[in-house]
Formats: sequence, C-alpha cells, structure tokens
Amino acid sequence: MLTTPDFTEITPTAEIRTTTHGKRAKCLQRLVRMDLPVPQTVALSFKTVRAVASGQMPDMASLLGVFADGALLSVRSSSEAQDWGGPGTILNIGMNDAVAARLAETHGQAAADALYVSFIRSYAVDVLRLDADAFEGPTTPRLAKAEFEEEMEEPFPQDAAVQLTEVLKSMARAWEGTTARLLRQAQGAPLDAGLGLVVQEMALGIGQGVSGSGVVQFTSPDSGEPQVVGRYLPQGQGRAALREADAQFIETDPRGPALQDVAPDQLAALKVAGQLMRDRLREEMQIEFTLMNGQLSILDAVRCPRSGRAEVAIAVALAEDGIIPREEALTRIPPFTLNQLLHRQVAPNAARDVLARGIGAAPGAATGKIVFNASAAQAMAAQGEPCILVRRETSPEDIRGMHAAQAILTERGGMTSHAAVIARGLGLPCVSGATSLQLDTRKKMLTVPGRKVFHEGDVITVDGTTGEVLVGSAEMIEPALGGAFATLMDWADQFRDIGIRANADTPEDAAMAQRFGVDGIGLCRTEHMFFDPVRLTVMREMIFAENPADREAALDRLLPMQRADFTELFKLMQGQPVTIRLFDPPLHEFLPGDRDGIRALAEALDLPVSRVASRIESLQEFNPMLGMRGVRLGVTVPEIYEMQARAIFEATITASGKGAPVVPEIMIPLVSAMREVELVKSRVDAVAADVRFKTGKEFTYRLGVMVETPRAALRAGDIAEHSSFLSFGTNDLTQMTYGLSRDDAGRFMSAYVQQGVFPEDPFQQLDVEGVGELMLLGAARGRAARPDITLAMCGEHAGHPSAIDFSRKAGFDYVSCSPFRVPVAKLAAAQLSIMDR
Ligand code: PEP
Ligand code: MG
Repeated sequence: MLTTPDFTEITPTAEIRTTTHGKRAKCLQRLVRMDLPVPQTVALSFKTVRAVASGQMPDMASLLGVFADGALLSVRSSSEAQDWGGPGTILNIGMNDAVAARLAETHGQAAADALYVSFIRSYAVDVLRLDADAFEGPTTPRLAKAEFEEEMEEPFPQDAAVQLTEVLKSMARAWEGTTARLLRQAQGAPLDAGLGLVVQEMALGIGQGVSGSGVVQFTSPDSGEPQVVGRYLPQGQGRAALREADAQFIETDPRGPALQDVAPDQLAALKVAGQLMRDRLREEMQIEFTLMNGQLSILDAVRCPRSGRAEVAIAVALAEDGIIPREEALTRIPPFTLNQLLHRQVAPNAARDVLARGIGAAPGAATGKIVFNASAAQAMAAQGEPCILVRRETSPEDIRGMHAAQAILTERGGMTSHAAVIARGLGLPCVSGATSLQLDTRKKMLTVPGRKVFHEGDVITVDGTTGEVLVGSAEMIEPALGGAFATLMDWADQFRDIGIRANADTPEDAAMAQRFGVDGIGLCRTEHMFFDPVRLTVMREMIFAENPADREAALDRLLPMQRADFTELFKLMQGQPVTIRLFDPPLHEFLPGDRDGIRALAEALDLPVSRVASRIESLQEFNPMLGMRGVRLGVTVPEIYEMQARAIFEATITASGKGAPVVPEIMIPLVSAMREVELVKSRVDAVAADVRFKTGKEFTYRLGVMVETPRAALRAGDIAEHSSFLSFGTNDLTQMTYGLSRDDAGRFMSAYVQQGVFPEDPFQQLDVEGVGELMLLGAARGRAARPDITLAMCGEHAGHPSAIDFSRKAGFDYVSCSPFRVPVAKLAAAQLSIMDR
C-alpha cells in the first residue's frame, strides 16, 4: 500500500536529521532551539522529495494548514552538504489576486504589484520553465498574467496548493537532472544523494516601518578576521536583490546609508545571534534576515563563504576559543587549501581569459611580460620588470633566468620534469606541458591556434594552481604565512606521527625548509648546486675531461665549493639529519644545447669550438635518463664521488665544531645492483678513514641507497646489507615501472587520464597499485635483511596526502618533499594520524 509522503514541522523536538532532511533543515531546527526568531517552517525529507519527483504529493491541505491563512511561503533546498548545491529558492508562493489586494492596503499598490509581478515571472520561468524573455517585458500583474495565459493556455493559478505543488515538483525533479547530478558528484556527493526541502512562511521585507532584507556575517571572507560584512536592502527581498546598486551597508559607513543608521537594536540582536551560532553550531555563519516594520526575522543561516586563508583563521580561532578541539581544527581544512596561503593566487572572482592549459606543476600565480630566454629574463629583472620565462623545456642553463622570472611556462614536460622540480623548489608558479603553445624562440613569438600572436613583452599570467595561462594581468591575493597559519603548523607537528623532511639543494632552500619547521633534509640533489654559471662551467670541465689529470684539476676546483655548500647546509640545519645525494646528473641536462653555450664552454676550456662540439656529440646518449646517470658515473669515474665524500666529511668536522654534532647521510642514486653499493661504500669508507687520519677528528656518517629502479626494489634485501637507509625515489621509480618518460609523458597524459587508462597522472599522484607494490616489496625485503633500516620516500609525490597515507601504512620513517609542499604534507600527516586514533 502506498503511504502519503509526509512532512515535519520544525520544532525543537521534531525528528530532523541532516542525513534524512538535509543540512539546512537541521540548521534551522538548531536556530529554533536557540529561540531565534525563525518563521514557521516545515521540512520535507529526502524520501518525501523522491516521492514528489515521481508525482506523489504530501497532503497539501494539511501542509498548508501549518501556516497562517493566506501566508506567503518560500521553498529552499536542503541537501546533506552545503557544497552539493540544490535548486534555487522560490519566494512568495501563495501570491494571487486576493493576497495582492490585501497587500496593496497594508503596503501600498506599488509594493504589492512589484511582488506579484516578480512571483508570476519566477513561477513561469523557474518553476514551469517558460521562456524567460517573454516575461522580461510585463510590468504589471495584469500584463504578466496575460503573458502567462498566452504561454500556458490557462489562467495563472490562484490556488496556493496548486502553486506549491508545482514548486515542489519542479525542485524535486531539478535535483534528478544530469547537470545537477554531475555537479554534486564533482563535490564528492554519492550517487544516491538525497534532497530535502524547507517550506517557510515569508517574513516580508516590505512595510511601512523599517523594513528590508539582508545577509550578514561577522568574519571577513578574505582574512577570516572578525569583521561585520554584508548588505541590506530596504524594502527588498531575497539574496539576489542584495546585488542591486541600492543595497546598503550593515554598519554605519561614510560611503553611504547603512542598516545600523535605522535599526541599531536589530543589528545588535543579529550580533548576539551570530555569537550564539558560533558557540552552538561551532562555525562562523552567514545569516539571512528580514525586518518587517522593525521586527527581526532570521530566515536562514549557512556556513559563511571564505577563502583558504579565512578557512584557516576561522578554524584556529574556534579552537583557540575552546569551541572546537585542535584535532577538529586540523581536520576541517583540506590540505591543499594551504597552497592558497603560501603563494600569491589569482583572486577567486577575477576575470580569466584562458589562453592555454597545461599541468599545474607548481602552485601560485604570477603576472609578467613574456621572455623567451634566460638572459632576457635577467635583463627584464634588472629593470625591475616582472617577467614570465617561456621555454619549450628548461635546462640548467635556464636557472638564472628562472631565478629572475616570476613564473615559468613550458610547452613540454610534466610534473617531474626539470622546470617543474626547480620551480617548486624556488616557490615559483609553473605550468608545464602546455602543448597547444607554438613557440618560435628565435623570432620571439608565441602562438596559440585561433588567438593573436604574442611577442616578447606581452603580458600574461601563469596560474600554476589551476594549470592555466591567462591573457594579461589578473587580480591577485597575497600569501599569509604568519598568525593562524603558523599556529596550525605547530598543532600539526603535535599530532603527526611520520617525519617530514624537505628536498633542499641550496642554503636558500634549506632556510625556507627551516621556516616551515622540517625534521631535516631528506634529499639534497648535489648536481643542482652547480646551476650557477661559474660553477656550471667547472662542472662541465669535469664532465668533459678526457684524462684523469684534467679531471683532477676540475675536481680540485669543485671540492672547496662543495665543502662550503655542505658546511653552510649543516650549520643551517643545526644537527638535524641532512641527506646528501651523490651526483646524479643526466648528462643531457648539463651539456650546452646551443651555439652560444658551446662557444662559451670552448672559451672556458681553451679548446676549439669544433673539438667541444665533437666531444659533446660523443657524449650524446639516445636515452640520457637511462644512460650514464647516478651511480653509473660513480662507478666508472670514482674520483667524482670521492671528491664529494671528502667535501662532506670535511664540512662535517667544520660544522660540528661550532654546534650540535652533524651526522651526514650519504645517498647513492640510481642503484640497480648490490655490487654498485659495495664499490661506492668501500671508496667512501676509505675517504672517511683518510679524512680522520689527516685531521685527527672523529665523526660518524650513514650511507644509504636511493631505491628508484625496479631492480633495486626487488633486490632491496641484499642492497640493505650495505645500507643504513633506503629512500624511495618515486619519480624515477614511476618512470621506470611504467616505462614512461617523465619529460615526455605530458604529451599524451591528458588523453590517457580522460580515457581512464590511468586514474590520475602517476607522476602527480603515486600509483599505489603498481609502484606502491614494488615499494612494499622493497621495504619488506630491506627490513627482513636489516630490521633497524630507515625507510623513506623522497620523490615529488612525497608531499601529496595520498603518498603520505601510503608511507604511514607502510611504516616509513619519513617523507621528503619540496619545501613549499611541507605545510600540506604536515597537515595531511596530522589528519591521518588523528583519523587513526
Ligand atoms: C626520484 O627519482 O624520485 C628523485 C627524487 O630523484 P630525481 O628527481 O632527482 O631524479
Ligand atoms: Mg631520481
């Protein structure tokens, strides 16, 4: 037997739950319990609304019987979470000739006519989905009704029950529509998410005395600091009207009239209500209210809109005031929200003319003039002009230009290509793999099909948060690292149960990492210490040396540089662990790529250009990322790693003299066989013995292996015998597990993700199924051979919440990521450990 769908009057004791009636209905019940002046309200459950969508109505007479005779009603949607949306509010249901005539007596003809016309329009367009244009013209109820009759071939309904039935049906069906479904699913709503509806008696914002409607909140949506923010419209109705030009301020304001000027007591009551809601609902709310002849009604309250920065400030303030526990403040903030605080961002409401899209490889946004090479970037910076470095892809030669630029844009590459890794380290926004760009760096032109041609000096904005390139400049919001952010980071440290280190190559990176409060440096890529042009040349001399004597001369020059670098790093990190990775230069990244570079190198080496060119040719590799990299260089040219080991040990002695003892961690890259480790270890041990002997000073160190080839993971058992730690380098491990180039995958990655081949770009989000399985296997084999072995992850994935989740479950000791990813990593780690309690 079919039962009639029911409804529930909202009273303090009624059975109303968020999971059955939606968030708005539950919130309204809480306001009623607080004795706030909420008009009579009825809630329809998800079940009832589903029945309505299939044509089964509640008993309309008893539903209308709840309200005063002839009252006007509103209907609002009430989904389970505010973000899931729902059909828009419909006001003034019940409006008809008789009500309009009565209103004309009490409120004046003009006000009554305006309400009637706007209801006919909204009923026709929003409820019955008639053509909006047809209802733009009519300005009197008579004309509007005539238009309605023309379109519907029946008179405008006078019966409130008929009107309300149509409104409920239309809202119930709108929820089932495809667009609405997709939109809410994008916000995380389940497939069967329900809609509740709330029918409320209207408290009209029109009348002879002080009358109007408004919204108000007591916190700034931008900063989250206490502030009265809102709009008030005398003789107005509904949220939409508040966008009109004649809407007023809330508090007395020199720029124009305000609610406070005419209704100070009611504003005071609203402030009390806001405070009460903050205490009881444990949230900053935005209140929708009306005044009718001076009488205040609170119609609705929603979680107030806020930027990421405000989100952090609000949660921290609620916890500091003892309203919510610290754990809850931490878990309320989605980790990636913090990116909005760390970098400048395009303002949420700024206009966007999107020129191209790529991978958002480093978050934040910057505006500047286009430059096509590093020297132009430096020249532009010297003139104090912000610039954007646009390259096909970047190489070490571009580093100075990258330092000088505000942001990086590359046609090629992905999440872990050179530009992306360096930009993240420098905290610069970067969009990589913007494949629709056509670059002509010689003619200094950038073309996107269908758009005007861009030249050097034209202004663009790179939004590395969204991966978009915008034409011209965009309004920005500034970073916010003090106050609430710093407090939140302290709390995250108290709750997290996995170490967070930073990948830092230079003292500047290390200082930034210290600002974010890391547990050490988990990866110092030593080849990155040679991006400075003077050093780059010495490095190239070393790579180019054709005989041991030349190589030794170059290494003798590199040694003091490295020693100074390490001494500074150790001093900065004050006894915290610092993992130094021995050279891992993919040779193609260190060879000059153009004629100017070759000439400069020929000059430095005092060799003819032709000789340098042919040597470069002899060093070319078909697959440099699988070529003479990492430990392969260390095994074939042992002097290089020996020089580095000496520099590390000498720096250890110097830095330990002044402060906490330093225990350096030396890490061997790109290992695939145990014998590689044995060879390097015996040489490093020999250098240590020599340094001890020559200086007469003692020190200790740890030697470990970077597990970034599948074979190293499989053979982790025997590798562990010679390693105090194993750190998984997920960039190369992903590249090699998939057989997918980290520099070229950007070209087809979006097609792969769109067609569901990969759920996500595996260079952005760790592939737990495949790469993860290899890591678990490696970890288990490593632990079996050496139970006290330290395990870690240090690829770019390591700052991502899903990789931290994986690492915690796998029992890793720490993760290590770019300094600017540390805050997100800390918050994610704290949330995961809180959730596990
Ligand atoms: C890795 O491969 O994961 C890694 C951290 O090293 P790099 O990115 O320098 O190759
Ligand atoms: Mg690597």
